[in-house]
Amino acid sequence: PPSIRRISEKHDKVFVSGCLDPQVNRPRANAAFVVLARNQELEGVIQSIKSIERHFNRWFHYPYVFLNDGEFNSTFKETILNYTSSSVEWGKIGPEMWGFPDWVDEGVAKEGIAKQGDQAIMYGGMESYHHMCRFYSGFFYKHELLQKYKWYWRLEPEIKYFCDITYDPFIHMEREGKTYGFTIAVKELKETVPNIFRYASAYKRTNNLTSKGLWEMFIEKPEDKEKDLPKEDPKYKKTLPEEILNSEPGRGALPEIDPESMDGETYNMCHFWSNFEIARLDWLRSKEYNDFFEMMDRSGGFWNERWGDAPIHSLAAGALLSPKDIHYFRDFGYRHTTIQHCPANAPARQFPHIPYLEMTTEDEKERLEEDAYWATPDAPKENGVGCRCK
Ligand code: GDP
Ligand code: MN
Repeated sequence: PPSIRRISEKHDKVFVSGCLDPQVNRPRANAAFVVLARNQELEGVIQSIKSIERHFNRWFHYPYVFLNDGEFNSTFKETILNYTSSSVEWGKIGPEMWGFPDWVDEGVAKEGIAKQGDQAIMYGGMESYHHMCRFYSGFFYKHELLQKYKWYWRLEPEIKYFCDITYDPFIHMEREGKTYGFTIAVKELKETVPNIFRYASAYKRTNNLTSKGLWEMFIEKPEDKEKDLPKEDPKYKKTLPEEILNSEPGRGALPEIDPESMDGETYNMCHFWSNFEIARLDWLRSKEYNDFFEMMDRSGGFWNERWGDAPIHSLAAGALLSPKDIHYFRDFGYRHTTIQHCPANAPARQFPHIPYLEMTTEDEKERLEEDAYWATPDAPKENGVGCRCK
């Protein structure tokens, strides 16, 4: 396969290097922040709003849409309004978007969830987490409050932006014809998605979709297998049964899939970390995306396994989009819990160094040359692409 890194560099330049004077009077995109949260997360949400307002939204004033499967209480609503001058809408998520659909046997699904709890699969035993992942995978973009928007920027409690964002990322994505933007890509815990790739791959095959070049990012290469760190997170090592750790396509709890319907590839667990996302809602609303979601959903993987919305969005992108549709926000300083992305390590044309992307000697040489440039006096002081990163 072609080098993703090179394709991406060719198609995906950083939008802005360093700081600009924010163009506060320019037209806005048709976009909003989307925040799914619960009342008890108020403190974490305040932290996130403070951070995004300080580093971006005090100039750009994009509205917020808050969503909740319960009701936001008045303390929550009044407090949030103290931290932004933008408009805020409060949405309730109905049972058609949250919880077990009528075609699922609730008893069986709950048993499956309890079993994942016993197996110490991260969040596996928490029913609400399964609902959340399914909601973010196949429903939030259908919520009535989001119908008027074309773009969304996902915001979670307890995140931190640590550089100023002095340009409008929606406008730039629109101009460059981008569909999906990320800032961090990581590996998924294998035991949460033992069978996800079989289904994604079958979807691709059944619909005769040929890769547009992004799919390769998610395929394990033989040489990466050897380089792999221990497969399991040491934290879970002792509690996870062998059959989960070693589960191969076809051995999990989900219905069998005809091996003929796959291409014989293995998932490398790579995914865009979806707690930050800027993407086009009309892509998620497209027939292709929803066919994909529906097929994945019907497998039962949101209950019998603990499929996250991050690998769902990522594999959908892999099947349906091409590298030029994706934007890597290498200039956004971003942290959620223990994982962060620091722009000082991300010179303008450097694709994230993900070991399973093919790296040729030529790529490596280019990267070294570029790093050398960033160390010269001509280079912007921050030795990276971010603005006023602290
Ligand atoms: P993590 O980042 O994977 O550890 O998961 P989080 O607990 O942060 O959940 C992801 C997002 O979904 C956050 O925005 C949470 O506020 C939200 N969330 C998770 N579970 C629920 C739930 O049961 N109800 C609501 N309303 N929001 C939820
Ligand atoms: Mn979170």
